[in-house]
Amino acid sequence: MCQNSFHSGNDGLKPLNTDVDDAGDQVDVVLKTLIQLQQADQALSQLTAQIESSPRQVKALRDELSQFVRAGEDAKLHLASSQKERRSLDGDLQEIRAKIAKHKDQLYELKTNEQYKAMLHEIETEESNARKMEDRILEKMLESEQIEKSIRDATARLESEKQHVETKVDALDANREAAERRRDNLLSLRNTLVAGLPAEIYELYAKLAKARNGMAVVEVRDGYCGGCHVRLRPQSYNDVRSDESLVTCETCSRILYYVPTDVPASDEEETSSHHQANV
Ligand SMILES: [Zn+2]
Repeated sequence: MCQNSFHSGNDGLKPLNTDVDDAGDQVDVVLKTLIQLQQADQALSQLTAQIESSPRQVKALRDELSQFVRAGEDAKLHLASSQKERRSLDGDLQEIRAKIAKHKDQLYELKTNEQYKAMLHEIETEESNARKMEDRILEKMLESEQIEKSIRDATARLESEKQHVETKVDALDANREAAERRRDNLLSLRNTLVAGLPAEIYELYAKLAKARNGMAVVEVRDGYCGGCHVRLRPQSYNDVRSDESLVTCETCSRILYYVPTDVPASDEEETSSHHQANV
């Protein structure tokens, strides 16, 4: 029986040698190995993503700190230019005041009423300009105070920001190193698992894993393929439960396994020959 392994038939693969008495055990070992391999590959792909994203995360943290430092430097530049503007306005105000004083002195030297009125008008205009100038100087003073406060706040926060970033970077580095060690261990486990598989079965697995987003081996539940969720034909369902041949889904080609759910607890012999979902 069970000469029809690889029911999907389009893989061009030879069936497992099921002539020997322990065909079921052989299939069981192969399936267990495939499940472990798939778990290792899934963990490896997560670890690789984590390892690869780590430098980007470190860079983002360092960029954040640089931005913080740069914002502080920009604020200092802004303060300097605000103070410079204020000094320039101060100078302009002094000039206007000097002009007003001079014009007030000149009032007494004027001969005609028209000249007197014209001079008064000029003085009023200059005084209005002086008031505007004073308002602008006040604005600049308030602006400088605000900038100085933000610089003081940023300076006070800088050390804790640096500390915060370094702590996070250290944690990211430690996580990456742990992930690299775990990846190395998994890679050697993977090599061992692959070495324990018949070459054609590993090739089938690799092909399916690539095509099916890492899900090459799936559990059959209640007669349905756990990958494509299509119901298996009764014969395929029986085959996958009998554990005597390697069965693939006729719809999605994934390798199928079955975990018995209602095995009596006393029947240890039987239980141990079945693969568990969390191998
Ligand atoms: Zn399927």
